[in-house]
Amino acid sequence: MLLCDDYMTPNTLDEAFSVMEAYRGRFKLVAGATDIYPWAREGRAGDVEISVLIDISNIPELKEKKIGDKQARFGAATKIQRFLDDPQLACALPCMPRCAVWFADDQLRESATIGGNIVNASPAGDGIPPLIAHRAEVELAARRNGKITTHRVPLDQFITGPSRTALAEDEILVAIECESLPDYGGSFEKVGHRRSLVISTVCLAALVKLDAAGRRFEDVRLAIGGIGPVPQRLSDVEKFLLSGSIEEVRLEQAAEMPVMLVQSRTRQEYRREVVRGFVMRGLINAVRRAGGDVTSLTSELEASYA
Ligand SMILES: Cc1cc2nc3c(=O)[nH]c(=O)nc-3n(C[C@H](O)[C@H](O)[C@H](O)COP(=O)(O)OP(=O)(O)OC[C@H]3O[C@@H](n4cnc5c(N)ncnc54)[C@H](O)[C@@H]3O)c2cc1C
Repeated sequence: MLLCDDYMTPNTLDEAFSVMEAYRGRFKLVAGATDIYPWAREGRAGDVEISVLIDISNIPELKEKKIGDKQARFGAATKIQRFLDDPQLACALPCMPRCAVWFADDQLRESATIGGNIVNASPAGDGIPPLIAHRAEVELAARRNGKITTHRVPLDQFITGPSRTALAEDEILVAIECESLPDYGGSFEKVGHRRSLVISTVCLAALVKLDAAGRRFEDVRLAIGGIGPVPQRLSDVEKFLLSGSIEEVRLEQAAEMPVMLVQSRTRQEYRREVVRGFVMRGLINAVRRAGGDVTSLTSELEASYA
């Protein structure tokens, strides 16, 4: 059971840091609290007692949104549902709407935040591979010697292991900044034990930009979660795909490349099969959404991975 004496809802970063200083070592930050309750329920070592839960979801900096042609910035307390129903976010981050569709259920998506998903740092956290593919950086704030300062860390360096991040105890993840890629086709593939309300077993984000004829990749980005301790970019596969045209045989070769990266101790063979299928399906879906010519792929291939 989760026991706490107080639940505080600071309205500014300054207020939040004051409470964090007053309760040093005895507080836990929460945003949507969708991870923290199951974490406490698991009981770890019996009851979990925390003096104060500090709900930071009302702080304006954590709710901001600035979308430009090249860069997108959104607060850590942005709800997962926003990536589905905010047209600006959906356009700038073309694989996030698919990610949000597969994320838990409607009710949970209205509470769960992208910042909480990142700080939870699950190897299969759904929001992480798409943002890694967007070369996201996280902005961390702290108040030291009475002054609030911020610094940025690339997301793939911020997550240091399963459930481990570079966040210091006195820091708050304020915002995420990433490349805005409105002219890319995006896809997000996910499989878990059940269709919804489930953490992924494997998930993959694909982003592609095509040449004018729609036959070659001008850019391709793939990031995968659930096959190792941390989500990762598939840079070798991306390089290979950039070196030739979009053909069935080349997609199949690309799909084979990350199979050996599967490190998870459980269900290895299954995960390998999923990785192969997801790279194929992710690419086909992303190419189609980028306006590409998928007729160059056999209809059989398209049907089997659609
Ligand atoms: C039924 C169910 C289904 C789920 N389905 C999915 C799913 O499909 N995909 C998926 O990826 N996850 C899923 N989850 C996990 C969870 O909902 C997500 O990880 C969610 O994004 C967490 O966000 P939150 O705001 O609720 O985090 P919280 O529970 O509030 O916090 C999570 C952790 O992050 C810290 N934290 C939160 N925000 C900040 C911040 N701004 N700065 C510093 N630290 C912070 C907290 O201290 C805590 O350690 C599911 C959970 C449940 C219970």
